[in-house]
Amino acid sequence: MTTTLSNHSTTLTGWGRTDPSTALLCSPSAVEQIQSAVATATPASLIARGLGRAYGNPAQCSGGTVLELTEVNHIQLDAANGCVTCGAGASLDAVLRVIVPAGFFLPVTPGTRNVTIGGAIAADVHGKNHHGEGSFANHVHWLKLVDGNGQLRLLSPSDPATAEAFWATAGGMGLTGVIVEACFRLIPISSSLISVDTTRFRELDALMAAMVEADASYRYSVAWVDSLNPAGRGVLTCGDHASREQVEGHAADPLHYDPKALAGAPSLLPGGLLNTWTVRAFNEAWYRKAPKQREEELQAISPYFHPLDGVSNWNRIYGPAGFLQYQFAVPDAAAHLVHTTLEALRRVGAPSFLTVLKRFGPSNPGPLSFPMPGWTLAADVSAAVPGLFELLDQLDEQVAEAGGRLYLAKDSRQSATMLERSYPRLHEWRQQRALLDPRGVFSSDLAQRVKL
Ligand SMILES: Cc1cc2nc3c(=O)[nH]c(=O)nc-3n(C[C@H](O)[C@H](O)[C@H](O)COP(=O)(O)OP(=O)(O)OC[C@H]3O[C@@H](n4cnc5c(N)ncnc54)[C@H](O)[C@@H]3O)c2cc1C
Repeated sequence: MTTTLSNHSTTLTGWGRTDPSTALLCSPSAVEQIQSAVATATPASLIARGLGRAYGNPAQCSGGTVLELTEVNHIQLDAANGCVTCGAGASLDAVLRVIVPAGFFLPVTPGTRNVTIGGAIAADVHGKNHHGEGSFANHVHWLKLVDGNGQLRLLSPSDPATAEAFWATAGGMGLTGVIVEACFRLIPISSSLISVDTTRFRELDALMAAMVEADASYRYSVAWVDSLNPAGRGVLTCGDHASREQVEGHAADPLHYDPKALAGAPSLLPGGLLNTWTVRAFNEAWYRKAPKQREEELQAISPYFHPLDGVSNWNRIYGPAGFLQYQFAVPDAAAHLVHTTLEALRRVGAPSFLTVLKRFGPSNPGPLSFPMPGWTLAADVSAAVPGLFELLDQLDEQVAEAGGRLYLAKDSRQSATMLERSYPRLHEWRQQRALLDPRGVFSSDLAQRVKL
């Protein structure tokens, strides 16, 4: 029996806490409630939301209705077939608590486990293994979507009749419908520890050369870069799941998983007010803390994959103006834009303690999927830095010129022109979107800004 969906007016932001807007917020717990909300919605009035970890405003719908999916959160592990079926509102955190003790890991995990399965598919999130294993949607067997007519559809990348709709939904930022359930494959593991090799580099070119080499030898790789250091020094950490033999004597239960006890992250953040001096002190300490070279260090899942999750609400250290993350992907031929961007951010005095460089492998068939072979740089910066927005507009030009693009899940400022230029398969996505949502029910503050 369908129960009436209650709602209340709420002001929402993304993780960066910029651009608040007010909408009616509902938390459906049954698919029928979602179908009925969609069927009775007016054009451009509805968007799904997960845990609000996208930085900008894709999970907001000013003056409309936001369907928060977190109560649709069942998790069913199929160990025999190495896959899991989840409600779209189940968080990666909740999924990990079920699958790790059973000897499985997520095929892809972003830098936080506080995202939902729906959010992971809608943004087609990537992790430290994109160079070898692609993004989240590459591992999804099927998903169920409530389309713009309120109809429940089963979409699968392996079914020619629904593959295009599936790939428009993966990376489609909630604009093709509401994902309510998905089944995806898992990685079998024999321990919950990661064997990590760490190397410190005094300058960026050497770091980047080592990252290209690491592509072939490591499942996971990521570099932290000291954004304030003119040479671009950094720390490269590469890893893979440790075998049973490697963890012998280290843990009574090799598949033990308790992220709270193991996080150990609070000392990570610069203390007090965030400014060039506190970030400089933090970056210095962070660089020095890393060994020049260390091999096969055993680390728990949380410190390696989700180091900031141990500090709740760390996004508040940027103060009331909030912050944004500038994340682009560029082909190998435009590797110089990593230098250019870091230098430009230093020039306007935008201190960043979280600047991360990763390698990307091949794109997937999603017309709006972000990754492309080459480099991705992500830098968190305070939205209050004078001249920042003008500078980023100039950098956008160079990124687009080089055949690169910005990540919609991190975006809070790019223009419609930038999006149009940098996502060359946008027209394909628009065609599929029109089929899935002919009345144009789904929209978001992001969609309004970039004219999606
Ligand atoms: C600390 C931190 C680290 C991060 N690291 C990474 C990283 O390494 N790699 C990466 O790719 N991303 C990363 N992200 C971004 C994050 O993974 C994505 O923004 C993700 O989409 C957030 O999921 P969510 O459940 O919070 O979704 P929300 O932020 O609530 O929504 C994001 C988008 O998904 C849509 N959506 C959500 N649920 C549904 C649904 N059920 N049906 C249809 N559409 C839906 C929304 O409409 C919106 O467009 C990071 C974010 C943070 C805060």
